[in-house]
Amino acid sequence: MSITEPINLLGLSATELTDLVGQWGGKPFRAKQLQRWVHQRGADSFDDMTDLAREFRSQLAEHCSIQVPPVSIEQRSTDGTRKWLFDVGKNNAIEAVFIPEDDRGTLCISSQAGCTVACPFCSTGYQGFNRNLTTAEIIGQLWHARRVLQADLQSARTGADAQAAPEPTRVISNVVMMGMGEPLLNYDQVLGALRLMLDDNAYGLSRRRVTVSTSGVVPMMDRLGRDCPVALAVSLHAPNDALRDRLVPLNRKHPLAELLAACNRYLEHAPRDFITFEYIMLDGVNDTDQHARELITIAQQVRCKFNLIPFNPFPQSGLKRSPAARVRLFAQRLMDAGIVTTVRKTRGDDIAAACGQLAGDVKDRTRINQRLPDRAIIEIKQERG
Ligand code: SAH
Ligand code: SF4
Repeated sequence: MSITEPINLLGLSATELTDLVGQWGGKPFRAKQLQRWVHQRGADSFDDMTDLAREFRSQLAEHCSIQVPPVSIEQRSTDGTRKWLFDVGKNNAIEAVFIPEDDRGTLCISSQAGCTVACPFCSTGYQGFNRNLTTAEIIGQLWHARRVLQADLQSARTGADAQAAPEPTRVISNVVMMGMGEPLLNYDQVLGALRLMLDDNAYGLSRRRVTVSTSGVVPMMDRLGRDCPVALAVSLHAPNDALRDRLVPLNRKHPLAELLAACNRYLEHAPRDFITFEYIMLDGVNDTDQHARELITIAQQVRCKFNLIPFNPFPQSGLKRSPAARVRLFAQRLMDAGIVTTVRKTRGDDIAAACGQLAGDVKDRTRINQRLPDRAIIEIKQERG
């Protein structure tokens, strides 16, 4: 007897689902119904899919599953930020973070366990590379976060705090691929997940509200522009090749001139008419007036906006966050040159909600609770020791 793995429906494209259902004699609209049950309604049991024929449901139950990686930790920050740590096996963890704001709710998700690019300011980079995530594992982060947030919304509506719950802050309107990993080095699986995010029968997000962040994988930026143009953020972090070679080692392969040319090619397809340049503010490393002047020259070559990111320090990096006054001045220099510039608010500081931080900590579980101020954390679930 051969035992085959159930097919995880979470990772299937609309076409793959139609083909699967077709093999059992089902019409394409059945596949659409099934896709809506899985992604829109967040069903995890075929028994719940009451408008599907009983026979179809039992075929599904026999051959398929709806499976997300188990959540090992869920945390809530005092500012409403939420973070989930998923166990993806072999002692690897990945994370997703939900950031509520007045006018939107943004989910930040991961694309790889670890990362090969090894930027010295990034704790994901310090972990080395473990493996690429599958489409099911990438979209599973959105599936899970939406279910949890919707359940909360439901209970707030029926519960005593109905008035206190501001609805928009509970809903995921934007997804950013700014968690762990380099999305464009896991292109095929990320592409599958992006297409599901945009699919009206799955998550129905607007292209303008789905952002891929890349350290500058030039050939894949071109492919993304052709295959599935979504909003693009480029992690610039340095205004010249000498410094960028150190801060974003991938620059040695795809230097700035090549990267900027790729940004301009991308803009021909992009749903927004600018690229967001992310620029991490590192004290004494990339934050001087001279750096700002060089950046202004770069900004004249690409339609762009700048997002300055206060560095989230971690012990091994040996780097420091630029003082707030320096960040303000740097932003002012760029704005004086007519460049739209924002400074990222630090959110969820009390739960280390920056790129790769908790997954880094969790390998050292014994001390995690001493390092994070527990008055600010509600640790909801810790299934594994
Ligand atoms: N690999 C992609 C996407 C994931 S990193 C990329 O590099 O763009 C997402 C963002 O988090 C990047 O802009 C990255 O520079 C930033 N980041 C990484 N480590 C950080 C830290 N310690 N503090 C603040 N931002 C960090
Ligand atoms: Fe990888 Fe992005 Fe971290 Fe650099 S910043 S190591 S590219 S995840």
